[in-house]
Amino acid sequence: MVALRGSGPLKLGGTMQVSVAGAESNVAIGLSRLGHRVRWAGAVGEDEAGALVLRTLRAEGVDVSGASADPEAPTGLILFEPRLPEVTRVHYYRAGSAGSRLRASAVERAFSAAPPRVLHLTGITPALGPDPLSAADRTLRLARQHGALVCLDVNFRSRLWTAERAAPVLREWVPSVDVLIASEDELALCLPPRGPDAEKPTDPAAALAAQAAPLLARGVGEVVVKRGAAGATAFTGDGSLHRPARPVRAVDAVGAGDAFVAGYLSALLDGAGLAERLERAVTTGAFAVASPGDWEGAPTRPELGLLGAPPGTVVR
Ligand code: ATP
Repeated sequence: MVALRGSGPLKLGGTMQVSVAGAESNVAIGLSRLGHRVRWAGAVGEDEAGALVLRTLRAEGVDVSGASADPEAPTGLILFEPRLPEVTRVHYYRAGSAGSRLRASAVERAFSAAPPRVLHLTGITPALGPDPLSAADRTLRLARQHGALVCLDVNFRSRLWTAERAAPVLREWVPSVDVLIASEDELALCLPPRGPDAEKPTDPAAALAAQAAPLLARGVGEVVVKRGAAGATAFTGDGSLHRPARPVRAVDAVGAGDAFVAGYLSALLDGAGLAERLERAVTTGAFAVASPGDWEGAPTRPELGLLGAPPGTVVR
């Protein structure tokens, strides 16, 4: 999407900054900055906003040869309205947009060049409409055929679809997912419905473990739970591991989850173990929180070490 970011209540008008936004493009840019080869498969309109999206991705080193430009629909739009220092409202204008008409044939083209080692998919794509849902289904099947590892960030967006519509799609996908990334409140969407008598452990860590267990039993290799300023916890067949968040002055929390995913996948692509994957993820997540914008503050690899520097540090 093209993104417009204001500095106060939207209805008062004023100036806005023009940029691009989107969960998958945020992850793509985050990974590219860390030195990985990334291809983005998505749709923009054949318009100037679409040109901005593709130009930005290209400038960030993301391969857009698999992207499509739709001559009959506009590029999606998102408005960010910072309402309080810690509260940002977003307004979507994406019904009927090119992204909401993404076709399976477009993702097939993206796969045909060179199948990826990892497919990253979010729960936003299937929420956009029947065509993107089919495209996402097709991508999952192609990934399995080509032996790519599948990473799914649930990213439930209640403005785009209801929990009742999301849950069956996500539950069907679970057995095809290797790395499932979710916020605490999103795990339930991926699980079979709980019976009325089912007891939920009162201890938060035990409650998370109880939700991760059935996902692992259905074939997910890793369940990674993003917990905001509390950090993240990963569950695997071997147990669980928690990493606290890196302390930073929070400037703009939007995009933290996508930055976290980029860090996690970066370390995974490097062949790093679970502890290092989580460590890089909380580090890239913290960079996003400490910088304005969704992806603009994403670190390059040499910059990863900057986070622990004492206040007032000048790097000469
Ligand atoms: P979004 O949808 O806004 O991208 P999310 O809900 O998907 O966010 P969060 O859990 O908010 O994801 O954040 C992802 C990760 O970013 C956290 O697991 C944590 O490591 C890091 N993070 C988030 N908030 C903070 C914070 N205030 N300080 C430091 N790190 C943070």
